[in-house]
Amino acid sequence: MTALKDHILARIAAEGPMRLSDYMAECLLHPQHGYYTTRDPLGTAGDFTTAPEISQMFGELLGLALAQCWVDQGMPAPFCLAELGPGRGTLMADLLRATRAVPGFHEALRLHLVEASPALRDQQASRLKGAQATWVDRVEDLPDLPLFLIANEFFDALPIRQYRRAGDGWREVHVGAEGDRLVPGLAPAGPGPEGRDEDTRDGDLVETCPAGALIAGQIGARIAARGGAALIVDYGDWRSLGDTLQALRQHESTDPFAAPGNADLTAHVDFEPLARAAAPAAHTLLTTQGVFLERLGITARAQALAERLSGVQRVSHIAAHRRLTHPDEMGTLFKVMALFPKGAQPPPGLEPAGAQA
Ligand code: SAH
Repeated sequence: MTALKDHILARIAAEGPMRLSDYMAECLLHPQHGYYTTRDPLGTAGDFTTAPEISQMFGELLGLALAQCWVDQGMPAPFCLAELGPGRGTLMADLLRATRAVPGFHEALRLHLVEASPALRDQQASRLKGAQATWVDRVEDLPDLPLFLIANEFFDALPIRQYRRAGDGWREVHVGAEGDRLVPGLAPAGPGPEGRDEDTRDGDLVETCPAGALIAGQIGARIAARGGAALIVDYGDWRSLGDTLQALRQHESTDPFAAPGNADLTAHVDFEPLARAAAPAAHTLLTTQGVFLERLGITARAQALAERLSGVQRVSHIAAHRRLTHPDEMGTLFKVMALFPKGAQPPPGLEPAGAQA
């Protein structure tokens, strides 16, 4: 049995079953044994891979989109360039390289990385050598400047709560113990997820992500007050129904309760509560990653890069383009939403929300 499982079992023995969000927080971010605290989970040798690790085009195009927003808003200087959960620092490295051609951008930016994992902070530092980065624990620690922010596969890593509808009431999913096994169960009836009585029926399961809403609220308030934009990319949809909690280990899905701290735990992101929490900032329509990248010109960029490649490299480059954009791969499951100041131009490739607001 792992040390983290022992710790969780002891906590349940002392305090009773815990909320799913507390369980996830222990698994992912326990200071000694948490999944993110102890390792680099990315890449083919890790548990999962992400868009910036698949191709440099992802970070380049997102970076140029963010720089365009900065130009559209009058090139405020200085400004805070921030990334949430930068992983290996690959997206930021590609963004910084691509934006070198944007006059004034690098002189004005103050780079801040919001990262909980000491192991990944080290990786980011070596990847971003030469860029003066500051690491912070939380969004509220970012400097009070216009904020241009990127978050790819960050919100899916935040702890969620789950509620099962039982007749007219709701029962929250809790994690308890049977012997030395961790098992999900239901707490007695209590308060349910806000606003979900109308679109659910007996037996339905609904998820909320309080940490995500809090962070979106802080970003939205900063952007509304100081200007800026946030590009949020993740898998999920506007509003979900059902259990989306998943555990990934070595690219295979596994039981989220079997080996706490040894598998990545994620849930699909609901963008509606993020958009609501981010008011007074405006938000764009939710757009699929494939459409967004096509609008930003990924095919032209892919062709330009392909001309310089041959053999296996060329084949894998073409596969990467497909993987990022094709509906059967990441193109449709992954979505993009931006936050921006009311009355400002939305980022390129995205439309302001009208009917959806
Ligand atoms: N954006 C990267 C990595 C995604 S993995 C990419 O696309 O490759 C999730 C990232 O979020 C990791 O860097 C992880 O350490 C970080 N993270 C997870 N929960 C966090 C939290 N609560 N606060 C700050 N960083 C967190």
